[in-house]
Parts: sequence; structure tokens; C-alpha cells
Amino acid sequence: MKESKDNKSENIITNDPGDKRTSAIAFGERFIGFLKTATTPYQVVSTFEKTLVDAGFELLEMNSIWKIGSMGKYYVKPYDSAIFVFTVGKDMHQLDSFRIIGSHIDSPGFKIKPKPEMTNNHYMKLNIERYGAPIYYTWLDRRLSIAGKIMTKSDDAFEPRKIIADFSNTSLAIPSLALHRNREVNKGMEFKVQTDMLPLLGQLGFQADGLTDNLADGLVKNSTESLGSDSAGDKTWNDIKRQTEYFKYFLGNQLDVNPESILDYDLNLYINEQGQFIGVNKEIIKAPRIDNLAMAYASMMAITEVERDKGINVVACFDNEEVGSKSKQGVDSSLLRTIMERIFHAYDKTTEQYLRVLPNSFFVSADGAYAVHPNHTDKNDPTNQCEMNKGVTIKMNANRSYATDTETAAVFQQLCAEIDIPVQKYVNHSDMLGGKSIGSMIESQIGIRGVDVGAPMLAMHSAMEYVGTDDLYDSYQVFKHYLK
Ligand SMILES: [Zn+2]
Repeated sequence: MKESKDNKSENIITNDPGDKRTSAIAFGERFIGFLKTATTPYQVVSTFEKTLVDAGFELLEMNSIWKIGSMGKYYVKPYDSAIFVFTVGKDMHQLDSFRIIGSHIDSPGFKIKPKPEMTNNHYMKLNIERYGAPIYYTWLDRRLSIAGKIMTKSDDAFEPRKIIADFSNTSLAIPSLALHRNREVNKGMEFKVQTDMLPLLGQLGFQADGLTDNLADGLVKNSTESLGSDSAGDKTWNDIKRQTEYFKYFLGNQLDVNPESILDYDLNLYINEQGQFIGVNKEIIKAPRIDNLAMAYASMMAITEVERDKGINVVACFDNEEVGSKSKQGVDSSLLRTIMERIFHAYDKTTEQYLRVLPNSFFVSADGAYAVHPNHTDKNDPTNQCEMNKGVTIKMNANRSYATDTETAAVFQQLCAEIDIPVQKYVNHSDMLGGKSIGSMIESQIGIRGVDVGAPMLAMHSAMEYVGTDDLYDSYQVFKHYLK
């Protein structure tokens, strides 16, 4: 620590940045940049894919024969919202172990319902459904946008056309109610998704930016009249549809497809705000979707940068953790096991050979941990208060919410010690329930040793979350070391 000599900031104590701090801040900046396009699991997969292709990784299709070579680097992206990356060692006869890092890439929030148009007083709102467990009030008055996957008509009923899209230039918002309309608001408010959380897409009667003249005409022409069953008057049927189906027309216009060809979509509202550093020394990162893109990003960067002579490294990013993982692209499925077995079969190895490497294998389940809160220190365990920037955290729970056992905790501590990275342990306050992770599901699905770890966070499930800049960098460092 040293006193700053700068007159303007006389009272600020600054840490000497040093090489490690400079690297940690640079890594944090890259992570903040990544979050801009990593908006929903589909966009996370596409963003990772660009990095992987640049780093020489090859896409394998789940429905094709896999040809895998020594020192090969591959990825698969089942169902577009999960991605699995693996590298194989030099000698195919020495595939003696798997080293796996697993994380989830979905975030709590809201999805757009089918037929979502809701209008009143010329407001164009969207009907939405909760996904997972977001902290509702943190979504008010934020800049929101929409992204996800849209399905349109094709010639083959089983292969509809799919479009992965992010409408990042369109902003929506969920306005707060004025204080004068609810003077009790600061005593706490119950939020109902169906009434309090509906986002505003705009107002009828304005030519929305980017809409074609026809559509704008349709919206403008009809905007001042209600649309009862006999109110069509001289309006054409298409004009009415444009108003009552404005979301479909918005999508069609943005995607340059016929709105009538849109069959369905999986679209999320997401927080379209830039992440930033907090603190006089940039010690904390505040950003949307840190749970769990911080750990997914750290693990993905690690596997693109290291090689292991023997064995197979896997980084697995799953969808649907926030809603219990029970989907084909979630961790409570056969997906990871299928991919591990297919790697072995691609080498003409037997199931028995695959089973023989499992006892040598290891996985790290990487997800956010709970840092002690500056204003609520009593919410964490009294003797294990995990602090930000005081080390990657091993998560433990007597009731097996996490995969960590005493042996795997020891393994992870030794890995951190080998590269001089601080490590801490998290257990719940005994009278409070903590979260769960994908770790115990990987353990029961695959039957190998594993540990649950993560960077300590603040405000988990808020629209904006916090992670220590050094903890994020240390996670990336220890993941690299583990995969070497
Ligand atoms: Zn999480």
C-alpha cells in the first residue's frame, strides 16, 4: 500500500498496481467487453464460438462421425444454447483422464410470451414470463433489450429455419411507479410479474425507427382509434394486424423476414447496460449476468490457452441451471456423458476403457459464491466470511448441495497453492439456505470426483451483480493451471 501523492486525490490510498493487478484489470476489461454480446445463452454460444474459431478449434456436429486427431481442439454446440469444448493430448494411447470445468450460461430474467402485445393508452407493452429467480425491483428503470432464437417456416417440417438474433439497438424499460402514487414503497413492495414488470416497447402513433413505411403507416393510421370488433371502418385487415400483432411485425421488420413466416421464438429480455469497475483501484466489477458468465468466461479463456500432453480437457457450458437443469441442454441430462463417451468411441476405444479412466478424472463446477455483504455481515457464516478479492472460493455443504468433499477440497487447495493463488472456503450460515450448483448433478451423472468453486459475488440474481477483479483473474489462472 502506498499513499497517493496526487494533490487532487490526497486522501485516496492506492494499491501499487504491480504486474498482477495490471493483468487482472486488463482481464476484467476483456470480460466486460465480452458481456456486451453475451446477452442470452444463444448469444453466449455464438460469442464463444468466434473466440474458438480464431483459436483454431473445429466444430463437430452431434449427428456426424467425429474424426479426432492428437492435439486436436474441438467444440460442439448442442441445441444452440449449450457449448462443449474439448482438447485431446498428444498420444491417443495415453488418454488417461478427463479434466472438466462445468458452468452454466443462463441467467435469471424474463422471457417474451407468445402473442405478447398488450396496449393501453397508446402504450405498447409486452407480456412476459419469469425465468428463474431474478430480483424484480432491480429490473426497473434499466435499459433493456431483447435477444434469443426465432423459428421461421421452411420446406421441411422437422427442420424449421432458425435465426439467432440480438435486437440490441431497441431499448425497452419497466418504469417505476412515482413515489407519490405509492408513498409506502420504501417500506417494501410486492412485485407481481403479470402487472408490475411488463416492459414498455414504445407508443403507438410514432414512426418507430427502422420500421418500413408500410408498417409505420399501419401503426400511425390506427393509433388513435380503438380496435373493437366493428371498429375496422375503412382500415384494411393488414393494418389491424400490424397494430394488434406489433411484436411479430417488429421482429419481421428487424429480421427482414415476412412476419407471417414466424412460427415461434425463445426471446429473453436482457439488461443492455455496460459493465464497469467499482472502487478507487478498480477492485470490483459491476455488470449484468456475472452469475455465471464470469466463471464461464474464465474457463473458456483457460482452455483456449493451455495444452495437456496426456488426457482430455473439457469445458462444458450448460443452459437452464436457473430453472433446475432438467432439459436436454441442461446438466441434469445425458449430454456430458454422451460427449465424453463419443470422444472415446472416436478413438475406437471400448466402453471398458472409458470406464477405466473415470477414477483418474476430475471436474471443477464453477459458479458464483456469496461474498460477505458490506451492510449485512450477519447473513454469512460467522467463522467463514468469504471476502471479495481474498481468493477463489471452495463451496462446501454437509447436505451435498455442492460436489465438494474433503478429498476434492484438498486437491483444489493444492492447485491454488502451486501457483500462489489465495483460496477460501464457503459454507452457509447454519440457519439460512444457500444456493445449489451443477456440481452435485455432474457428480451423480458421471460418477467422478469434483469440487464446487467460484469467485465470491455480491447481489447474486440482481440485474447488476458484483465480482472481485482479482478473484476473476485468479479463477482464470487456476483453471489454466488445472488444465495443464
Ligand atoms: Zn449461478
